[in-house]
Amino acid sequence: MVIINSGEPLFSAFVDHRTPLNYIGRFAPSPTGHLHAGSLVAAMASFLDARAHGGRWLLRIEDIDPPREVAGGSNQIIAALGAFGFVWDGAIEFQSRRSEHYQSAFETLLAQGHVYGCVCSRKEIGEQVYPGTCRNGIAADAQPRAYRVRVSNENIVWQDRLAGESVEPLARSSGDFVIKRADGLWAYQLAVVVDDALQGVNHVVRGDDLKDSSARQIYLQQLLALPRPDYLHVPVVRAADGQKLSKQTGARALDGRQALSELRQAAFHLQLGLINAESLTEFWSAASHAWSQRYLLR
Ligand code: GLU
Repeated sequence: MVIINSGEPLFSAFVDHRTPLNYIGRFAPSPTGHLHAGSLVAAMASFLDARAHGGRWLLRIEDIDPPREVAGGSNQIIAALGAFGFVWDGAIEFQSRRSEHYQSAFETLLAQGHVYGCVCSRKEIGEQVYPGTCRNGIAADAQPRAYRVRVSNENIVWQDRLAGESVEPLARSSGDFVIKRADGLWAYQLAVVVDDALQGVNHVVRGDDLKDSSARQIYLQQLLALPRPDYLHVPVVRAADGQKLSKQTGARALDGRQALSELRQAAFHLQLGLINAESLTEFWSAASHAWSQRYLLR
């Protein structure tokens, strides 16, 4: 296992509730595109799992990357989710308003020596695992571009509810990774860990394209002495050429006008069978039942 930081929990307001009654899940879309068939599947999986556990389901808009966002993306996603009959608990959180929390976690990691400034450009590093060029310090007069967290050589080991035991050698798979980007924006990995902890999220259900982010997130949780949620990664929807469905691969925006047929396809993708329903209420009730059979009683 990796180093477990013995310091005080960063967020003392956090209470770790793990019993099913206190289940807290979430859907956390980035408004880099509209709601499409792929994100509908992720929304459905997290929603049904929360319902099946009698838990809470939060909606968090991860709008921390303005250069990649589409105009009106957040509003479209929220409106479409409503039209599909999703019901979230509490107020919607927006990451764009939560910068102070990321700053505070960043300062904690910096003070504990887990973070260093990096002057390497993306061009220099390319797609390779970061070789640790700036790990041992940069010239005194150099201006850091990004900030990276130092990873350990230990494997990260965790249980995925579907894939089972998952092992990731972080030093070889990602290397020291960025938590504050060269453009000054917070990296997804940091923001998601801070928010899941502060919102009391104890179940993360999302697409398996994010499965390899889990190890980095668990590592940050350990450094910040935050509890680890349970993970379930469901297969993402792929376009005909095998690529993940996204705005970039031409996914069509869904607005809920053909809600029942689109929900039915999403449920089928999640192996919940063919759900023929006359109304949204009927659909969600049948889908909740199918979810419990497929994902809870195993
Ligand atoms: N915001 C991320 C996305 O839309 C998902 C975050 C998560 O579920 O952890 O891909």
